[in-house]
Amino acid sequence: MFADRLQRLGTENAFKLADHIARVQADGQTVVKLNLGEPDFDAPHHVAAEAKTQIDAGNGHYCHPAGIEPLRRAIAKQVSETRGLDIDFARVVVHPGGKPSIAYTMLTYVNPGEEVIYPSPGFPVYESWVTFSGAQPVPMRLRESAGFAMTAADLAELITDKTKVIILNSPANPTGGLIEADALAEMAEVIRDKAPANVRVYSDEIYENILFDGRTHASIASEPGMEERTLIASGHSKSFAMTGWRLGYVVLPTLEEAEVFKNFNINIVSCTPPFIQEAGRVALESPESAAAIAKMVDAFDERRQVVVDKLNSIPGISCIMPKGAFYVFPNVAGACESLGAIEAFEKMTPEEQANSSPSTLLQMFVLYRYGVATMDRPSFCRIGSDGEHYLRLSTATNLEQLNEGLSRLGAAVTDADGFADFAAQGVPG
Ligand code: PMP
Repeated sequence: MFADRLQRLGTENAFKLADHIARVQADGQTVVKLNLGEPDFDAPHHVAAEAKTQIDAGNGHYCHPAGIEPLRRAIAKQVSETRGLDIDFARVVVHPGGKPSIAYTMLTYVNPGEEVIYPSPGFPVYESWVTFSGAQPVPMRLRESAGFAMTAADLAELITDKTKVIILNSPANPTGGLIEADALAEMAEVIRDKAPANVRVYSDEIYENILFDGRTHASIASEPGMEERTLIASGHSKSFAMTGWRLGYVVLPTLEEAEVFKNFNINIVSCTPPFIQEAGRVALESPESAAAIAKMVDAFDERRQVVVDKLNSIPGISCIMPKGAFYVFPNVAGACESLGAIEAFEKMTPEEQANSSPSTLLQMFVLYRYGVATMDRPSFCRIGSDGEHYLRLSTATNLEQLNEGLSRLGAAVTDADGFADFAAQGVPG
């Protein structure tokens, strides 16, 4: 029944874990959810008020497929001011959420067999679209020892004459890593030197507002010669806690490319709901928004400190301090070893191994036996990740829940007998 290409479509497991969580809850256990990639805040009141006003005014019809002009102008202004650029609003295309432009990028620039470089661990939808589109995946390994930051040296080694797109993500999901301004300058130099002018950089800056320790956002598009090669992608999901509203956008290097992205919108979604776009414009323009963002960032900041401290006190787990976003990405190699998860994985058949990893076994054990939902390493771009043992925990949950979740995690990793029993019963798939 299904087309061959479906075998190459990946997924975002954070959504799929809901079924496992529901099973655990149906068994009468409470679950601490540290798996979710969305702020535990609601959209700011002034933004929600605008959406209501717009709905009441009947602003619910088809609108411009590239986005309403007032929002595109507000985006062009915000991106110009924060990246030191002068962006014509006609280069902005709005779409529902941040994901569509990842797909559009693969479909627009990459022929089957051409190469796409993307971060790993990284947002899973990158690898999913790379493989689905028939492109050759070239994961760029992010090393814990380098703070999970991409480096110019790593990038230089991966660029070939087949490279068509380079995906960057800073601040990053799932690691909370950043590409600091000096590293961005070095990466820009590598790209200018090694890649022809038609190679595109897809710079995913959706966490641009979630930065700690007084940092301000930096984009590769601000580097000399890079604006004309870079797609600057962002959206409202994370900055304004509007994940379910579905509002994202991308600034294209040229008007011609913006026309192509607009045409993808026409073919797939027609347009983005206009009342959502008006509310999104208010989010960008209102002086009240800065306080709403600061409130969230302060909460994420406090939580990351507590969580990193606690994780580092658990035997077999170590965790570096994230610099942005709302995730921590602890190394759980020691815990996998002492629980027997590495050994249990080695005993699995190749078919079973293809959908698992030691961190997956740990993730399932912690969820089913201790009621804590986390994400495993393979959920963040799997290709070539063998031997890497990490979990992602979200800090977008209140401190009480975080503390409870970490206490349970601490108990789980010392329960080798419990793990052996769990593994013997067959890990739920
Ligand atoms: N890029 C990254 C790095 C993300 O983490 C996410 C959301 N988890 C997105 C894009 C997609 O955002 P949206 O929910 O707006 O589609």
